[in-house]
Amino acid sequence: MEQTLYDVIVVGGGPAGLAAAIEAAANGAGRVVLLERNHELGGILNQCIHNGFGLHYFKEELTGPEYAGRFIDLLRETSVEVKLDTMVLEVGGGRVVRAMNPTDGYMELRGKSVVLNMGCRERTRGAIAIPGDRPAGIFTAGAAQLYVNVEGYMVGKRVVILGSGDIGLIMARRMTLEGAKVLACVEIMPYSGGLNRNIVQCLEDFDIPLYLSHTITNIKGSKRVEQVTVSRVDENRRPVPGTEMVFDCDTVLLSVGLIPENELSRQAGIEMDPRTNGPVVYENMETSIPGIFASGNVVHVHDLADFVTAEGQRAGRAAAAFARGGRPAVGEALTVENGEGVSYVVPQRLRPQYAGQRAELFFRVRAVYGRSVIRVTAGDELLAQFPRQHMAPGEMEKIVLPKVLLDRAAGRNLQVSVAAEEEVPA
Ligand SMILES: Cc1cc2nc3c(=O)[nH]c(=O)nc-3n(C[C@H](O)[C@H](O)[C@H](O)COP(=O)(O)OP(=O)(O)OC[C@H]3O[C@@H](n4cnc5c(N)ncnc54)[C@H](O)[C@@H]3O)c2cc1C
Repeated sequence: MEQTLYDVIVVGGGPAGLAAAIEAAANGAGRVVLLERNHELGGILNQCIHNGFGLHYFKEELTGPEYAGRFIDLLRETSVEVKLDTMVLEVGGGRVVRAMNPTDGYMELRGKSVVLNMGCRERTRGAIAIPGDRPAGIFTAGAAQLYVNVEGYMVGKRVVILGSGDIGLIMARRMTLEGAKVLACVEIMPYSGGLNRNIVQCLEDFDIPLYLSHTITNIKGSKRVEQVTVSRVDENRRPVPGTEMVFDCDTVLLSVGLIPENELSRQAGIEMDPRTNGPVVYENMETSIPGIFASGNVVHVHDLADFVTAEGQRAGRAAAAFARGGRPAVGEALTVENGEGVSYVVPQRLRPQYAGQRAELFFRVRAVYGRSVIRVTAGDELLAQFPRQHMAPGEMEKIVLPKVLLDRAAGRNLQVSVAAEEEVPA
């Protein structure tokens, strides 16, 4: 079959893909195509009609669609070809991208480089096995967000939210503003999975109780949800008998985690990181397959779209350089290891000779920390320390290592760890 040749093929048109495509074009990639399965660009941002986007990038508070709109406008000023309603089916050897849409039918596109930006999908009830009946009225928070914000359907009147991820918190506020009663937000962990600002602005400001170390232990209802039982859990996350609370409600929203959409990456044979469920990437967002880059939620779940944009830009720049053939010989890479208290670090590999003047590391901690210090070591040598007043698993951390430190690490792996300097009050 005839293959159309592109310099850079960008898969996914959310904030990561938009940034990657714009930046690839700005850095000399002549023929760039952006493939998006949806009927419009913007990705998940189109249903996030609340504000809070763009604080880092634009120094302004924008809604999700406004934030996406700014990049869609920038994209329109480039020569990037956009194919909507286009599902990418496979990324094969030789960077051949197989896709189809209603206009072109089945297509094979060959890219000098490819950037993967497929985002995330939500964990569902099946993934966490909640006991009880199987009535209507149980939605993932993101599905409810789409119904309410985009389609204009209210999904219920009396709501219990399971999980305290950002989507659940934002939907607690949205459902309240739309006239529903949100009875509780129930979180199995002893800390919230969402941003602190969302706990304050979405729960506390609306007097919605947050039950930490609690979970739903039963759902009752024949056609529609009628009642849920919530129990406290012990330190092993097992329900404690005798602590049951019953809520009369018609709706349960699940905000129990996101899963990076990496079917295409796995099928392509890209090395994956079991901690992030995303591809292992180098400092320029290149994956283990030369010329295939990845950015955004497909690499690791972000809480701020601004960081997604920055990652997409980095991937787009590197993809353009690869397509121009300007790629220097691959050198030895340092592996970045997860030390005490750290659940993952991105990028997982660093080539100091490519990193420019500094390398940015993004990571999440495993528990809530008060006054503490982030340590970066190479072998026994302490390279850098970063003090923090507060860290939580729901909030992504960023540290910047200057090139001089990377050079000092030469030949040794880096380790990022966290040491508490004070106990966090229970
Ligand atoms: C509910 C919610 C609330 C949020 N609130 C905030 C907030 O207040 N402030 C903030 O800064 N951030 C917020 N975020 C985070 C931010 O919006 C996300 O991190 C960001 O949208 C991720 O961008 P992405 O481009 O990686 O993925 P997405 O936006 O998910 O885009 C991925 C795109 O890839 C497409 N795609 C996937 N597979 C294929 C395929 N096979 N072929 C073609 N196309 C494909 C999808 O259709 C989609 O358009 C929120 C996120 C969510 C989910």
